[in-house]
Amino acid sequence: MADTPLAALLAARITQEGPMRLSDFMAECLLHPDYGYYTQSEPFGAQGDFITAPEISQMFGELLGLTLAQAWLDQGAPSPFTLLELGPGRGTLMADLWRATAKVPGFHAAARLYLFEASPRLRALQAETLVAAQPRWCDDLNALPQVPLFVIANEFFDALPVRQFTRREAGWAETEVGLKDGALTLGQGRLYPPALLPQAWARSVPGDVAEWAPQMVPLLAPLAARIADQGGLALILDYGAWAGFGDTVQALRAHRPEPILQSPGLADLTAHVDFAALAEAAAPCAFAYETQGAFLKALGIETRAARLAAGSPDAAADIKAALHRLTAPQEMGSLFKALALFPEGAPLPPGFARKGPPDV
Ligand code: SAH
Repeated sequence: MADTPLAALLAARITQEGPMRLSDFMAECLLHPDYGYYTQSEPFGAQGDFITAPEISQMFGELLGLTLAQAWLDQGAPSPFTLLELGPGRGTLMADLWRATAKVPGFHAAARLYLFEASPRLRALQAETLVAAQPRWCDDLNALPQVPLFVIANEFFDALPVRQFTRREAGWAETEVGLKDGALTLGQGRLYPPALLPQAWARSVPGDVAEWAPQMVPLLAPLAARIADQGGLALILDYGAWAGFGDTVQALRAHRPEPILQSPGLADLTAHVDFAALAEAAAPCAFAYETQGAFLKALGIETRAARLAAGSPDAAADIKAALHRLTAPQEMGSLFKALALFPEGAPLPPGFARKGPPDV
């Protein structure tokens, strides 16, 4: 039975108000001011609960930086422009990106760095890591300046709470967290008619589970509008797939999966990202989509790894292991995807083979 302080608090709330949506449960677990996972714990790295791509190797941030800088050059090197990261964690990706782009003439001078981060604790960490780049923190993505926008987001969208539904003959039943004998328990709440839920779910059959992140459109739409109007690029990397059904909500603690109700506030809770829904939410933008492995290889990660290894032979085995972890299909290469959003008519960003959805 869950016995974290947050579990007790949520149990009291459910006693008072009745069962809560899974998305509300996730939101409390991730960002509760006193007991939330991102607000309180140190999730990243070998000591933490999971390791993200930028924490595996500097190559990741470097290559993403050069991709953004190339797109910036291809679009006429606009100045000033907004450089934005969503959910920067410890700031590692942006630090690598910033270092790698130092030699791109004019890029640093033109960049105004904004960070979008909900956790005050992580904001403080980012302020330390990124002091040289003079970041500002942005609370409202609608308020970004009316200039070209270059965005990076790694493992941000998987952290957004999802509503989850199971298909029944007569409609969709929403997953809820309730109480049974005083313990948190998963159940199914009321039934929604299909007309109220995403059109893409129409081809479901009874038993299918579908998920939907309500915050995705409000977060992405203003960014896509800015990119379509002013120019720019968004690079979104995460684990997930192009549409599809399934229960993907998972909890991870100390690198091990655990039941999602087991330790509220102490485990990372995520859901797979639906990239088709992201592309649709960014509707005025053109898009391109690749697996992370194919994307990083097209950007030359193997050459970069060989050069790094030649420069520091002691680290050669670690660099080889990092390359494998980031790109091999059985590691992060296939499960993780890269999505680029850019103005119709702008050149295809480096690393992508073509525009449009994957062949499915
Ligand atoms: N990009 C980093 C960290 C990924 S973890 C990396 O690759 O290592 C997710 C990040 O998003 C954390 O910084 C977390 O605090 C932040 N975050 C999660 N939900 C958020 C929200 N709703 N608004 C703003 N930031 C959020």
